[in-house]
Amino acid sequence: MKKDISKKPLNLANVDFLHRQHKLLINPEYQRGSVWSLSQRQWLIDSFFHKIDVPKVYFRSISKNNYDYEVVDGQQRIRAVIDFIGNGFKLAAESDPVDGNPIANRTYNELHSDLQMEFNNCNFDVVIMNEAYTDDDIEEMFLRLQNGTPLNAAEKRRAMHGQMRKVVETLGHHKIFSLCSFSDKRYAYEDAAAKVLHLTIKGGWADIRPETIKETYEANEYITETDPNVIKVAKAFNFISDAFKSHHSPKLKKYAIVTLTQLTINLLENYDLQQHKDKFAKAYLAFELKRRKNEELPEKKQNGELAAFTDAARSDSVPNMKYRHDLLIQEIIKDIPEMVLKDRQRGFSEEQRRAIYWQNAGKCQICKEPCTDSDFHADHIKPHSKGGETKISNGQVLCPGCNREKYNN
Ligand SMILES: [Zn+2]
Repeated sequence: MKKDISKKPLNLANVDFLHRQHKLLINPEYQRGSVWSLSQRQWLIDSFFHKIDVPKVYFRSISKNNYDYEVVDGQQRIRAVIDFIGNGFKLAAESDPVDGNPIANRTYNELHSDLQMEFNNCNFDVVIMNEAYTDDDIEEMFLRLQNGTPLNAAEKRRAMHGQMRKVVETLGHHKIFSLCSFSDKRYAYEDAAAKVLHLTIKGGWADIRPETIKETYEANEYITETDPNVIKVAKAFNFISDAFKSHHSPKLKKYAIVTLTQLTINLLENYDLQQHKDKFAKAYLAFELKRRKNEELPEKKQNGELAAFTDAARSDSVPNMKYRHDLLIQEIIKDIPEMVLKDRQRGFSEEQRRAIYWQNAGKCQICKEPCTDSDFHADHIKPHSKGGETKISNGQVLCPGCNREKYNN
């Protein structure tokens, strides 16, 4: 079949008629934008009464069950008309009379029959695509159609098929976003959730340009909410929102959601972080306070690492994300010295080693000689073999000589 497109007016009574006959599939799959509020619906109906032009709607011919058409764009407008004819809502109190007849605060039923018939005879301009149009064709068309406003990456991903979109939508509704300093305008929460899930699927560091995230959507068409990576993200979101429950909101920016979630996934995997929610929240808030104070200092007096963190927050390049992660994880674990590394076969982790070095100001705790930060031994004060835990509070700096001596005795 060849693609074919036609246009015709469809009066509002027939819109309602098609709906009641189950000939018109109003498919939520194609939902673009959010569900309309009452006032948006009222103003659409008012526009018909006052002969104000309304945008076209788009149908595609289908033969599915009993349906003849599906609505691929204009769901909200179609629903508003059907609801209004069904007396589902009243016109707004501000609506002006039509030819001297009042319409404000009235349902369809309460209007003069002349006005009802006039309404019935108003038209939608309908663009009808035949069955040769594929989902991809339709997606492509809407990307081009968006009334001059280019879609942002999150909005484009919403028009994609496959499960990833749904999983991201669910994550985008997580309560962690109540801790954010930004609004959900134009699906900003889904954008953050998509970035975090993309990075988790990539196993840590990957670029998060829209093209790359799009590839992840395509490669994970069949992902579900029970996928291990989705669970990791959800657990980290839960942990973070619980941790801050009894604190001031951290007012997270988008980059901070990305960084904090990656870091939390990492810590939950490797440490008994679940036991230290409160300290985690405090450590983060303390870091943010320190970082903001640092920003207010004259440039010469600023701490270089903290200033570099602020710089690294300006973009999400891989080196920037990595810098933020590494500095922040270091700051956080330093403040949770009781946090135990899960893998008891291992020595201290790299982050713990650095925190121990910092804790002992780089000096051997036996001979008090300074050590270089690559040369020292991160020692278990209570030896590992005697049940000493791999946590910073059980760690100390030893020089290679004192370390040998301790274990020879
Ligand atoms: Zn020593």
